[in-house]
Amino acid sequence: MLSARVHNRQDRPGRGEILHLRGQGLMEKGLSNWPEQLRTLWPGEIEWDSPMARWCTLQVGGPARAIAIPASRAELQSLLAVLAKLGVCWRVIGRGSNLLVSEAGYDGVIVMLGRKFAAIGERPGQKEGEAKVQAEAGCSLMKLVNWCAAQGLQGLEFAAGIPGSVGGAVAMNAGAWGREMSDALSSVTFLHQSGEFVERKKSDLDFSYRHLETEGMVVVAAEFLLQPGDRQEIEKKCGQLMRERKDKQPQGLANAGSFFKNPPGLPAAGRLIQDAGLKGLSVGGARVSEVHANFLVNTGSATPQDFLDLMRLVQEKVFERFGVRLEPEVHIL
Ligand SMILES: Cc1cc2nc3c(=O)[nH]c(=O)nc-3n(C[C@H](O)[C@H](O)[C@H](O)COP(=O)(O)OP(=O)(O)OC[C@H]3O[C@@H](n4cnc5c(N)ncnc54)[C@H](O)[C@@H]3O)c2cc1C
Repeated sequence: MLSARVHNRQDRPGRGEILHLRGQGLMEKGLSNWPEQLRTLWPGEIEWDSPMARWCTLQVGGPARAIAIPASRAELQSLLAVLAKLGVCWRVIGRGSNLLVSEAGYDGVIVMLGRKFAAIGERPGQKEGEAKVQAEAGCSLMKLVNWCAAQGLQGLEFAAGIPGSVGGAVAMNAGAWGREMSDALSSVTFLHQSGEFVERKKSDLDFSYRHLETEGMVVVAAEFLLQPGDRQEIEKKCGQLMRERKDKQPQGLANAGSFFKNPPGLPAAGRLIQDAGLKGLSVGGARVSEVHANFLVNTGSATPQDFLDLMRLVQEKVFERFGVRLEPEVHIL
């Protein structure tokens, strides 16, 4: 069993809030040797003192004390049990395509569900031709989209071109072109704080705009209900949407997609930023993209602080001009 502390120890994203996720009190508790203990108690893959800039698409961020990369549900389960026992704080990530990590990094364990945690399977749905496709959380979303297209299954085309993992996409309720993950999902499997795996039907889950209330649980797999379709048509649709992305989004500069959430009932965040005259606004190496104003890009030398300062400057200027407070969509560690 994982202790209840696991729940408290995971630094959970809240709705639109900025998170400060440094490890707490490990030294005070006399656990300064936790890395050694972790090494002894958990045999899986770990990278020590690894710069988060390597793992995030913004290509900035200080070091994580450890990055643990479980290769299976059993490894994940045992990892979280060990971390609970040691009282070490942790945070799960996918491909870091929606993360801004501070210069200080993360003084705990980043649990990364990656390519080793990435199986895809299929079973028939209830109606003729329908399929239920299950993907593990570490699977790349794009790989899943391509896999479904190749099987002639439609329903996930909107996600073509969204970077990141299936787990991250579910936790973010990622979306595009008026659709989001919750539209295609039928259930999500989590690792609960009790150490048990629990499967929750979509109707029992609390999805909202770019958010799923995970209650601190780890998404380990997701099941999608998809309809039969023509393979070529599905692939054509995906290709079209990818091309539209390419035309509308900055290419060749590191970014995390839309930096701010679209405010409800108002023009899109990008439109507000553009109309406030902020395209091209820079702080250090971070810049508001000239191509799409809701993309903050790394021109090559940006620091996490540049992004934070630019974010605040954009928020202030948009507020001054339109009285609208933009909330970051990007999660900030
Ligand atoms: C070029 C570009 C284009 C983008 N376009 C879009 C778009 O069109 N639509 C859109 O919605 N997003 C878009 N994004 C943002 C991003 O790709 C999505 O939010 C993506 O779903 C994040 O997945 P990830 O695996 O990278 O998650 P991460 O960035 O690693 O994590 C994001 C959050 O999810 C949590 N999380 C990750 N995995 C799990 C898990 N297994 N269990 C519980 N919590 C977890 C993390 O703790 C973190 O809080 C874009 C990003 C880029 C760089």
